[in-house]
Amino acid sequence: MNVGVLALQGDVPEHLKALAGVVRGGTVTAVRTPDDLARVDALFMPGGESTTIARLLQGSRLWDPLDARMRAGLPVLATCAGLILLARTLAPGGPGASPPTFGLVDVEVRRNGYGSQRESFEGPVRVEDLAGEAFPGVFIRAPRILDVGPGARPIAWHEGEVVGVRHGAIWALTFHPELSGDRRLHRLFLEGAANAP
Ligand code: GLN
Repeated sequence: MNVGVLALQGDVPEHLKALAGVVRGGTVTAVRTPDDLARVDALFMPGGESTTIARLLQGSRLWDPLDARMRAGLPVLATCAGLILLARTLAPGGPGASPPTFGLVDVEVRRNGYGSQRESFEGPVRVEDLAGEAFPGVFIRAPRILDVGPGARPIAWHEGEVVGVRHGAIWALTFHPELSGDRRLHRLFLEGAANAP
């Protein structure tokens, strides 16, 4: 399996490092061009600055092919800014101008939804299908999921609040599993991606 990390901006090295320890018998590719994208069987969309990533996606001519691959069922794990870029709706009130979104994950999201006093924090996350102890959630200027529509299904909760959803083959999380050192979520996602039709 060839696993890609969208490598335009954000915490790309952390994702590549996390995957190096998890992907066995496959390759990990930094995706910067449509050719790179064409070679991957699953894609991680990192956190970072959603407006910048959106601009670079358009500038590198990746937006349209990425949109097409995701609509055709490419397994994607999106974190933080990645979730923002996939959301159906962005609530008004985030920092600066809102980025355009792919609209493929049926959630309404508020950027920097925890406000300045709790912009970044760590806390336990309960994840569906992960047995054992709670997942260590690292939230950095995290978005908040305000509404989950019928197309998406909650899969992760922090203090009773939804912090992760699945919509078809796309997993979208407000926190950063690549920063916690706990690889259970990466493994769970890749197992599902490997068995995808
Ligand atoms: N607040 C950032 C944004 O709106 C996302 C933060 C992150 O990805 N850690 O793009």
